[in-house]
Amino acid sequence: MKVLRSIPKIRNQITLIKKQRKTIGFVPTMGYLHAGHLSLVRAAKKENDVTVMSIYVNPTQFGPQEDFAKYPRDISRDLKLAQKAGVDIIFLPRNKDMYPRGYLTYVKVQKITDTLCGGKRPEHFCGVCTIVAKLLNITSPDKAYFGQKDAQQALVIKKMAEDLNIPVQIKVMPIIREIDGLAMSSRNVYLSPEEREDAVVINKALFLARQQFLRGEKNSNKILSSIKRLISSKHSAKIDYVKIVDTENLLPIKIIKGEALIAIACYIGKTRLIDNIILRG
Ligand code: AMP
Repeated sequence: MKVLRSIPKIRNQITLIKKQRKTIGFVPTMGYLHAGHLSLVRAAKKENDVTVMSIYVNPTQFGPQEDFAKYPRDISRDLKLAQKAGVDIIFLPRNKDMYPRGYLTYVKVQKITDTLCGGKRPEHFCGVCTIVAKLLNITSPDKAYFGQKDAQQALVIKKMAEDLNIPVQIKVMPIIREIDGLAMSSRNVYLSPEEREDAVVINKALFLARQQFLRGEKNSNKILSSIKRLISSKHSAKIDYVKIVDTENLLPIKIIKGEALIAIACYIGKTRLIDNIILRG
């Protein structure tokens, strides 16, 4: 596994790979790897000749009061996990190369970033799109892999790639969960043992909502009330938002007819966790 820090070095490698007519699968991450990240690597390896992973905690996607400084980092552990998973190239860019002095360019996807996490974290998706566009330009992958865990992000990135004619196929892979149902996240490490127990309520609420839907409940408000009631039963939990929205435009749905996305962001203590589920009739 090659570990590259500079943009010219990774560009050289990418040029060599392309000359050999090999395909590239790209997995962008912020590190502190877990089985969710590694599932993206598995998919990339299956569908491409070469797998490139980036590990970069991108400062522009964090708000001023958010956890950029304390976001968990452990590069030596990440490198071991990535190597074991069969990543071919790791790109570890530096802030001064990604955002050099005088940096002025940002990418903004409109409308679908106004709701859910975008509604609560106003600069977040601009930061995400900017870094992903830069990473796609640097690594020129055939396919890039994202998790359904960040459902809105996956949709926004797809839209950005389509609108900016970036020649890449965006693949969205299923949510990987702990045995008790909690969606894997690098931020789960922030949870105290009691909070870790309470956090399961997020997935439980989504699961119950699906049961309710499958039993015939199509009224979003009724489903949302059940979710809110269950989550409020845990004293460490505080809902940031819970919405039932269209899977394409993310607009709220009152009566569920076809597909719908239930998306939740919830504080467990001070840790903000997100999760979601798609309802299909
Ligand atoms: P992050 O390092 O949190 O920015 O995540 C990097 C990529 O891994 C994103 O595309 C995430 O959606 C994806 N990811 C994170 N957690 C999970 C999970 N539990 N299951 C599947 N994909 C995930």
